[in-house]
Amino acid sequence: MAESLQAVRGMNDLLPEQAARYRRLVGHVADVLARYGYGELRTPVLERTELFVRTIGEATDIVEKEMYTFVDTLNGESLTLRPEGTAACVRAVLQHNLIYGSPQRLWYEGPMFRHERPQKGRYRQFHQIGVEALGFLGPDIDAEQIMIGARLWRDLGIEGQVRLEINSLGDAAARAAHRGELVAYLEAHRELLDSDAQRRLHSNPLRILDSKNPAMAELIAGAPRLLDRLDAESAAHFDGLRRSLDAAGIGWTVNPRLVRGLDYYNRTVFEWVTDALGAQGTICAGGRYDGLVGQLGGRPAPACGFALGIERVMALAEQSSLLGSASVPAAYLVHQGDAAGLLAARVAETLRGEGLAVVVHCGGGKFAAQMRRADASGARYAIIIGEDEAARGLVSLKPLRESGEQRQLTPEALVQALGAPCAPAA
Ligand code: ATP
Ligand code: MG
Repeated sequence: MAESLQAVRGMNDLLPEQAARYRRLVGHVADVLARYGYGELRTPVLERTELFVRTIGEATDIVEKEMYTFVDTLNGESLTLRPEGTAACVRAVLQHNLIYGSPQRLWYEGPMFRHERPQKGRYRQFHQIGVEALGFLGPDIDAEQIMIGARLWRDLGIEGQVRLEINSLGDAAARAAHRGELVAYLEAHRELLDSDAQRRLHSNPLRILDSKNPAMAELIAGAPRLLDRLDAESAAHFDGLRRSLDAAGIGWTVNPRLVRGLDYYNRTVFEWVTDALGAQGTICAGGRYDGLVGQLGGRPAPACGFALGIERVMALAEQSSLLGSASVPAAYLVHQGDAAGLLAARVAETLRGEGLAVVVHCGGGKFAAQMRRADASGARYAIIIGEDEAARGLVSLKPLRESGEQRQLTPEALVQALGAPCAPAA
């Protein structure tokens, strides 16, 4: 195939087996979130560019270089494919006046777009499940969201492979005070800064702490810690969170250099990380964004959320029985002759009406070739309708996965026979 016709680099097709795993993961998470009282929100994949610039922050990787932004030629408006979901969620909440009556627990799922260098676990179209709680001030909601993550990892059987890192970014005043010290420290070591860090030194120095460049690891390790300069309220909040996690039996480590790549975070930030996926080790990340609602013009309301990277979670949960193997049909129908073809279609429709997955052979061919297809389909049974069966209004049922004889029965008796284990030869 001509390269020019292939999918855009970093954007993947999901073939049926993977798509089924994707669906099961999202279905399970949706089920778990419903148990915690979260309702689903679906927002468009396109938003006005300004929404992301104002919320994520001008001097962040996402806004500086990762957004798919284009001008709508019809009206000259600048639009962006969403690089994350929180901004759009808050936009929708404000637009529909959702929070002022009561706090909101919301979640969403779908594709996000970032122009990054594609590699394992890092794509240009990737998928997230996002969870947001708006209108909650205390650390109990932070703990609740971390508990949701912990439950999901247990359900997926990957709890032994992930660990929780937490930090607090304090309030705006604490960050401003820390910023001065941080800039002074980094300036004193200017020669060790890579070009990204040099550029960020004055626009967004906190982000330098999030650098993944090993050459700067030592420098970053020695940097002044925001955590040591927390305001009293943020310190109490952080303490409350740790106590809730302890009470819930969830292990945590404080990573004082955990900052997150978006500007709207304050107080709690957290990441679930693994060593099993190489460099792309963060499978889920979030934190508080108490200022965001006000920043978008709403009456201020505290909030907390996280996003889970579906591709990374699916990769880590490769063996999980919850995501299962591809589903196979209960039966594959082979048939020969006009009358048999009509009967086959009718029988299949009846079985589907009973909730069974049934594939009807299409395209004719010899019985032997049709039976090979039946076998390859993974179906548990072949239903065989030859001219002889069709004339008598009967079907033959042949187990494909277990021993047992082929037997003839009426179409009406099929539902029960297919639901039951393979009957031994009569
Ligand atoms: P990273 O540090 O890996 O770039 P991030 O801080 O940019 O991640 P967030 O914006 O917090 O990521 O997104 C939440 C989660 O979404 C990440 O923890 C990760 O699992 C997933 N994610 C982010 N970017 C990508 C991507 N380009 N491809 C695949 N998954 C991604
Ligand atoms: Mg990133």
